[in-house]
Amino acid sequence: MKEKLFSYIDSIKKDMTSMSDYIFDNPELGLKEYKSSKLLSDYLKKNGFEVELGIAELETAFRATYKVGSGGPSIGLLCEYDALENLGHACGHHMQGPTILATAIALKEILKGLNFNIVVYGTPAEETTSGKVQMLDKGCFKDIDVAFMMHSAPDTSVDIKSLAMSAFEINFHGISSHAALAPEKGRSSFDACLLFFQGIEFLREHVKDDTRIHYTILNAGGAANVVPKLSTLGMYVRSYNKDYLDTVIERVKNVAKGAAIMTETTEEIIETKALYSRVPVLPLNDLIMNNAKLVNAPNIKPSREKTGSADFGNVMYTLPGSCIRIAFVKEGTPSHSDAFRDAGKTEEAYNAIIYAAKILAATAYDIVSDKEVFDNIQEVFNKNKEILKQEN
Ligand SMILES: [Zn+2]
Ligand SMILES: [Zn+2]
Repeated sequence: MKEKLFSYIDSIKKDMTSMSDYIFDNPELGLKEYKSSKLLSDYLKKNGFEVELGIAELETAFRATYKVGSGGPSIGLLCEYDALENLGHACGHHMQGPTILATAIALKEILKGLNFNIVVYGTPAEETTSGKVQMLDKGCFKDIDVAFMMHSAPDTSVDIKSLAMSAFEINFHGISSHAALAPEKGRSSFDACLLFFQGIEFLREHVKDDTRIHYTILNAGGAANVVPKLSTLGMYVRSYNKDYLDTVIERVKNVAKGAAIMTETTEEIIETKALYSRVPVLPLNDLIMNNAKLVNAPNIKPSREKTGSADFGNVMYTLPGSCIRIAFVKEGTPSHSDAFRDAGKTEEAYNAIIYAAKILAATAYDIVSDKEVFDNIQEVFNKNKEILKQEN
């Protein structure tokens, strides 16, 4: 059956590469991906999918569904299509839509005798406002049992963990006054910042090793002879365990409270972004990598233990998911670089789309054709999520 999926995907290669080229040649920033989202969702509509473009209050997000038989698992296929400011498609997101479409349509055409749902989600603004976070908030992804993605890369592999991250802005509000004539009437918001940073440095000693805390001053301007009324700092707190991170954030808030009490100022804490850590599901990763070997994907490497923060983490904290990273550039080429972008229309890029589609289609087949495989993935996800909670 997998051979049939593979040859079907080969047969639609030309359509996929021309869509990839079109998205590459029309790079669109987050929430402005009008051409890309229309191209992809129109193609799905033409292929019999039921399509809603503009969901979760995001004009460039879409959902496309197709039912094969009745009941069975619901396979989620997610794609991004936003580009980078001044750099174009230097993160390779133009390849994701075509990969996901090839996967979805091959499953629909070839696995007619089975029972399952296919749900494609177009997810905007990964690089900027993290579209998947809002989509989750608005109820997206509740209709899928497992979520797949692809991302182009220098090697072919999957990730085990990802960093949860919370970003904050903290305003300290003080009272301005003449620093020489009436300092006793002033309360310095900048003093509060300095004490806050000092407190964070002491906190750093008493958190788990993988906790990362970094900060900066965003605004504390003004003349030296005026007691500063308002100071604003920015900070990020990260950990590979979202549940542990929540406990660190509470302690960070206490440090801010303490700094405010000491300086008789008030603190205002604004959370600007929250990305979750994924729950590792090794059997799902294994299925993907076995299929990567089956199709002879280029430059196969062992799983990456730990990676940075991404909005797909929020999805993978909520339900089992995995992303196949597929090789198309030389080892060591970083994403968001000119070299990464310049490889976006090469034969290697076109092949990466096809390899990734075959890997995801074969993995979806493994899941929808064997209930034990599906059940095991759900069980491992639930168990590991519980373990992460208990680690605190
Ligand atoms: Zn990127
Ligand atoms: Zn990316």
